[in-house]
Amino acid sequence: MTRSETLRTIAARMREAGDAATPGPWRVVKHERRQHPGVLANVDLHKPGGTVRSISWKVPGEIADAEWSALAHPGLAKPLPDLLETVADLIDARPELERPHVDGEPCDDLACRIVHLALATAAILGGNS
Ligand SMILES: [Zn+2]
Repeated sequence: MTRSETLRTIAARMREAGDAATPGPWRVVKHERRQHPGVLANVDLHKPGGTVRSISWKVPGEIADAEWSALAHPGLAKPLPDLLETVADLIDARPELERPHVDGEPCDDLACRIVHLALATAAILGGNS
């Protein structure tokens, strides 16, 4: 698979996952009575359709995980795939960007660095990193 194909594949996968998830924005809230914080999917619970996705935890570090989940809510499934596909278009426009460098690191060319970072992002999203 070429670099641009990889970016487009991951972009499509991310859109599909984002469409299937509870829409954002999400934020972490405290459930005062239960003493369990949780991730709130719709900011205003009193609005029709407001949905709560509860994540409970036992150790403090897991609160940070919940905060991260809230930060990286499915709203990212629109601009991030668009960004990855734009980088794929950049690669198509500049075919020399399809080839990785011998050392695997980007050179000083800004486009080369953007492609490198987009591929690193795609590797994480694709479960390869
Ligand atoms: Zn380069």
